[in-house]
Amino acid sequence: MADASYAGDGAYPPSYYAASRNIIRQPVRLEGSVEADICVVGAGYSGLSAAISLAEHGFRVVVVEGAEVGWGASGRNGGQVVNGLNASLGTIQRRYGQQTANFVGGLLQEGAGIIYDRIERYGIQCDLRRGNIYAAYTPKHMEELKAKKDLWASHGMNDHELLDKNQIRQHIGSTVYEGGMIDHSGAHMHPLNLALGEAAAFESLGGTIFEHSPVIRVEQDASGATVHVAGGQLRARTALICGNAYLGNVVPELTARVMPVSTQMMATEPLGEDRANALLPTGMCVEDVRYILDYFRLSADHRLIFGGGVVYGGTDPADVVAKLRPNLDKVFPQLRDVKIDYAWSGNFALSFSRVPQLGRLGKNVYFAHGYSGHGVTGSHLFGRILSEAVRGDMTRFDTFASLPWIPFPGGRMFRAQYSTLGSWWYALKDKLGI
Ligand SMILES: Cc1cc2nc3c(=O)[nH]c(=O)nc-3n(C[C@H](O)[C@H](O)[C@H](O)COP(=O)(O)OP(=O)(O)OC[C@H]3O[C@@H](n4cnc5c(N)ncnc54)[C@H](O)[C@@H]3O)c2cc1C
Repeated sequence: MADASYAGDGAYPPSYYAASRNIIRQPVRLEGSVEADICVVGAGYSGLSAAISLAEHGFRVVVVEGAEVGWGASGRNGGQVVNGLNASLGTIQRRYGQQTANFVGGLLQEGAGIIYDRIERYGIQCDLRRGNIYAAYTPKHMEELKAKKDLWASHGMNDHELLDKNQIRQHIGSTVYEGGMIDHSGAHMHPLNLALGEAAAFESLGGTIFEHSPVIRVEQDASGATVHVAGGQLRARTALICGNAYLGNVVPELTARVMPVSTQMMATEPLGEDRANALLPTGMCVEDVRYILDYFRLSADHRLIFGGGVVYGGTDPADVVAKLRPNLDKVFPQLRDVKIDYAWSGNFALSFSRVPQLGRLGKNVYFAHGYSGHGVTGSHLFGRILSEAVRGDMTRFDTFASLPWIPFPGGRMFRAQYSTLGSWWYALKDKLGI
């Protein structure tokens, strides 16, 4: 596997999360030669989830992170613990058949379960609050939500509650929505504090994390894998590649499988309890159901954290606030006078089918990526499935790994342009409500 540069630069972005993190780590670099049973590349949720599962089973696991724990999407995201994958269960049923849909339907709530369990078991402080709302703009969106509720109920998940136009006003202080649906088994939390808490949990199990150690090359032979960084190397029986959208071209076999896409977030100044509660009286987080969506929630110190928009290819817009503010003003015109304290951007990995990918390169290198913007729960689940595969239980791994995947059309050079065209089309559909 050839050498190439890694996208990380080592410092957290200027996010509200970085400013309010409750654990300040003392990063240690990987230097010289180190050995382990398992090496995990990337200290985001995928890597940490796999690492914790393996450490819980007594493996000697070392995580190698290019920047710092949670530096990627896991420490920058909307904090929305949304059940399911980006591709809907209906899409999975149509595309891969009933058997696969039954399999996927059986694990759609597992990722959230892993998060809740770890928060409780390891005492992670990350401001967890239950409930997430899908907000609908049009009657057609409401039909889609009703169909989703029925489909999920047919797989034994009964935590959804439909909201009409009046009912949604009890949850969101905005007049723009036609209705919505609550998922009582969803939640929201401080995403970087979750990642940092998971890193501490992993270390409490005897695990090691090297930071500021970008992996530049991964090699494998009959007996294991060697992960190279500028100042050293790590030899292990198995390597798990969990670099997701920030992996760049370090493992070229993975490059065409996903495309980095950036999405933007901002946090208002603290609004005070009353003003914040008037926006989201029941404290649940919200995402709307358009293709290019807004997502928002309250922080523990009563800010509105608002995200939205995408840039295909993964570049940061010149001015995040200029891009996002009009969206915020449409939903909450009452916040026009409010100051924005933090604005940042982050990359998620989009797969062409919107279905995350698990796989194996040769005998000793595995990977998981491509949650396509809905990965807080999926990354925890896929981390666990990676750990099952390493422990020799290939059942769930093989089912996902066998799903066909399509490379992005246009190759590295033109894939962003192709997807921008797609994005323009979806934005038009959102506008026309079709
Ligand atoms: C702004 C934003 C908002 C989002 N909001 C939500 C949301 O509200 N709900 C939801 O479900 N999903 C959301 N997502 C998606 C979700 O955050 C991701 O799907 C999930 O965090 C992916 O986790 P990961 O561990 O696979 O990747 P990441 O968290 O990106 O972790 C990958 C790690 O690998 C490291 N790495 C990469 N290459 C190398 C290398 N060569 N050497 C060493 N280390 C390397 C990176 O530095 C990084 O820390 C959002 C994403 C973004 C960007």
